[in-house]
Amino acid sequence: LPRDLFAPERKNSTGVEFGHADSLAALRAEIAAAPAFIDAAPLIDGLAVKGRSRDVLSPIDGRKVGSIVECDEANVTAMMAAASAGFASWNATSVDVRAAALERAADLIEDNRGRLTALLQSEGGKTIDDCMSEVREAADFCRYYAARALNDFAPKTLPGPTGESNQLRHCGRGVFVCISPWNFPLAIFIGQIAAALVAGNSVVAKPAEQTPLIAFETVKLLHGAGVPATALHLAPGDGKVGAWLTGHAAVAGVAFTGSTEVARLINRALAAKDGPIVPLIAETGGINAMIVDATALPEQVTDDVVMSAFRSAGQRCSALRLLCVQDDVADKILTMIEGAVRELRIGDPRDLATHVGPVIDKEAKDKLDRWIDTMASHDALRFRGDAGPAGGTFVAPAMIELERASDLKEEVFGPVLHVVRWRANELDTLLSDIAGNGYGLTLGIHSRIDAMIDRIAARLANGNVYVNRNMIGAVVGSQPFGGNGLSGTGPKAGGPNYLSRFALEQVLTVNI
Ligand code: GLU
Repeated sequence: LPRDLFAPERKNSTGVEFGHADSLAALRAEIAAAPAFIDAAPLIDGLAVKGRSRDVLSPIDGRKVGSIVECDEANVTAMMAAASAGFASWNATSVDVRAAALERAADLIEDNRGRLTALLQSEGGKTIDDCMSEVREAADFCRYYAARALNDFAPKTLPGPTGESNQLRHCGRGVFVCISPWNFPLAIFIGQIAAALVAGNSVVAKPAEQTPLIAFETVKLLHGAGVPATALHLAPGDGKVGAWLTGHAAVAGVAFTGSTEVARLINRALAAKDGPIVPLIAETGGINAMIVDATALPEQVTDDVVMSAFRSAGQRCSALRLLCVQDDVADKILTMIEGAVRELRIGDPRDLATHVGPVIDKEAKDKLDRWIDTMASHDALRFRGDAGPAGGTFVAPAMIELERASDLKEEVFGPVLHVVRWRANELDTLLSDIAGNGYGLTLGIHSRIDAMIDRIAARLANGNVYVNRNMIGAVVGSQPFGGNGLSGTGPKAGGPNYLSRFALEQVLTVNI
């Protein structure tokens, strides 16, 4: 019997109970045993490219945590040739072999959780909580895509007229270029790669410029899990490297997570090429709103807003950017939220008591600080918190009050919450303002009225809608993640339709 379409048999990773002293001590010991410094480089057929390196600095305190050699154009050419050569034999393996490699990778991720956490902290500035969620999500992506592939890519006999048999089969497309962001340098990085590999593609992975070390470790982990070094190559570097890769004649598909602007550049580069039309799977940003009406429970709203806007220092695509509170309850709810934001601890993310760690780098910090200063100069700043320790790239959590939802025109990617108030007779205008930004990633609703929830969800075509809860942390297999409009092309990561975009389909019809 075919396995269930929506829930292939597998379990999500369980993580660590931080309230349990022994579990926490064990994790801390594993983190302490991790190397303090990593020298990383491009990997072509598993061999590290030699060359001049640059330092990788920690956002926590600016200390050097590793070094990276970045790709030059000749490396990219050599890598694309190697990936093209590696495609045929990997594509010829059975889906069982490829899925088994991903299952081993998931086990290795869990076995190496301390080492990976150490890197997510030192290079990515993540809190321990965020690290554990990310380690779990990375393992979940591997197991989910393995299970899905076994289900989806098993040859299927289709009904047809007497005297003919029809079989639907899948194979890889060729060389897939996977371009990933710094905010989930392990989970999104490996999620894209796992999907592309299990479908039979060879992969050239280009990690974000800010997080090459964890990418280097993850590629080595995948090789250790049984993915041939000829099938998976690593191309660290800046946007130039991405442009060389996506402009290369051999690219057969691109998976990208990052800004809408870069997704458009990639789309144009692919469209300009001769040869087959190359698919782009893009997951981009959002100006994510939460709509709170007068029937919402204030304590619950407060918790969910703080979590959605400030967890991970607001550096999630899914994060809440624009809170829209009905006028009648706005004073009370905003006062409670402000009180909770004042309690947030900014600081070293390795300290379990820290809620908000640094933002990724100085460029991000400067941009966010400038935004908050500009809003302050327009008298829109309601609250700005503690600036955090010196030496790191910390941004004080801030609350900004705007007149209208349409006043927020860009994604502010950090610990900044914008707020608007709306009156009952203004709901349609509010929904039009939100729809008008063109994005469609996450949407939060807090209401006890079913008709209100239906009305909002029907008007706004967001990919992930969360009702009476926070709006981050989509769970693989349960909450397939990805948006519409300016937020991405689909299909959703961690969902039943993701893998098919990475594969070619063939129908074999035989006259018997
Ligand atoms: N999947 C993540 C979440 O639901 C967000 C991914 C991203 O930031 O790109 O919070």
